[in-house]
Amino acid sequence: MGDSVAVGLCFTCRWMRPAGNQRGSIFFRCARADTDARFVRYPALPVLTCSGYEEAMVFVVLLHYTAPLDRVDAVRVDHLRHLETHAARGVFHAWARRDPATGGVLIARAPDRTALEAVVAEDPYVRAGVARAEIVAFDPQNVRGALKT
Ligand code: SF4
Repeated sequence: MGDSVAVGLCFTCRWMRPAGNQRGSIFFRCARADTDARFVRYPALPVLTCSGYEEAMVFVVLLHYTAPLDRVDAVRVDHLRHLETHAARGVFHAWARRDPATGGVLIARAPDRTALEAVVAEDPYVRAGVARAEIVAFDPQNVRGALKT
């Protein structure tokens, strides 16, 4: 399970902590349950109403290629797999290569910058040294217009 309809509110909640096992299953843990007995650690999904819901921070991640495109493309399949994996966990919500192809743009949600930095550090582009990431944060309360994720 791993999309916004199947998971419900937890998918975009700042208290959600996704985790995976070796078989590829994804679990959504409520961090509020660690300190508040009104919440359960693994709520039944989808969660459609929740008094503890708080929107996660919104980020734009700008990827800047630092190597020729053929070296970038050599790890692109792994990069896209990384994005898909974390999209299923509610981290990445949209992405595209820039035009012209000087990097990429990712829309992400995470509890805080540190959590997202950990995910971005594992991006095969970053690990291979073919791109650097610039992370721009937004408070979701300040977003105007429609952000359907
Ligand atoms: S506070 Fe509610 S919406 Fe947020 S992760 Fe916990 S159960 Fe899900």
